Amino acid sequence: MAPRRKSAHAWVYVIWGLNGFAILSLLAFAAFYNTSLRASAADETVSTPRPGETRTIPPTSYFLSTLTPNPFYTPPVFETPTPFELPKGLHPSIIGFSLAGRRIEAYTFGTGENEYLIVAGIHGGYEGNTIALANELITYLNENPDAIPTDVTLYIIRNMNPDGEARDNGVDGRVNNNGVDLNRNFPSDNWSADWDRDGCWIYRPTTGGAHAGSEPETRSVMSFIGSHKIEAMISYHSAALGVFPGGVPWEEPSKRLAKALSKATGYPYPPIDTGCVYTGTLADWAVEHGVGASVDMELSDHKNTDFKENLKALKVLLNFQP
Ligand SMILES: [Zn+2]
Repeated sequence: MAPRRKSAHAWVYVIWGLNGFAILSLLAFAAFYNTSLRASAADETVSTPRPGETRTIPPTSYFLSTLTPNPFYTPPVFETPTPFELPKGLHPSIIGFSLAGRRIEAYTFGTGENEYLIVAGIHGGYEGNTIALANELITYLNENPDAIPTDVTLYIIRNMNPDGEARDNGVDGRVNNNGVDLNRNFPSDNWSADWDRDGCWIYRPTTGGAHAGSEPETRSVMSFIGSHKIEAMISYHSAALGVFPGGVPWEEPSKRLAKALSKATGYPYPPIDTGCVYTGTLADWAVEHGVGASVDMELSDHKNTDFKENLKALKVLLNFQP
């Protein structure tokens, strides 16, 4: 059995050879795997992310409509006009609306044939004390109807520029929502879109309007005056310059009214001349369009209503014959 023994030995060599090959293969694979791991780890430390690289989130379609501002949408500006309402009795008539849709109101006192008019607040919140004065006069007359002579009807337009009043109580409250000085917007003979600012109010940019009578506030008062036969009127302002008669040059009846009002109130007449040329004013337009006499009258400051003095002024107005 020697040859058989010999072949059995041969098998042992073959098996051990295969084993050795398998072990070497495993070792080689392990060595390769190990180095490749280290290499990839090195790769990772070398490739740092570029600075500023951020993840971008894909847009979500159903949020886009609220994220993109609508170009046709004007956000509301919350303005608060000072409310005025009589506790009982009289309601005003609405003679028109401001650009923002606020009511321009006229209170009526008496039923006589001679009609008189008071306009306040043409310069909005900047001259808000004129509106406060109108409120006081309205309240007083509501409680004292006998203060109106029997042959008289008095109209009080308490706030001609409600948008300006709602906007601000300082210089920003002077113009209407188009940036127009309403007391330069009336189609009087000397209306002008622009004017020499020497001696004039210069704290904010403003114009006389795109054309004479361009503003709804102006047209409301124009149509009100046009539909009445006003004997005399006061357009209230502030502050301190005195009483300006209507007309270019000043008309005689308006000068007479200004003198009488100055005497009653102590407001300067002739008014203080700052060198400013006034164009397109309510007082000038009024006397050019049938009002018997008219004045611009300035309270003594931007704060007080000078109620006592203006109660005397009211008496002068209601007894004035142009
Ligand atoms: Zn004014």
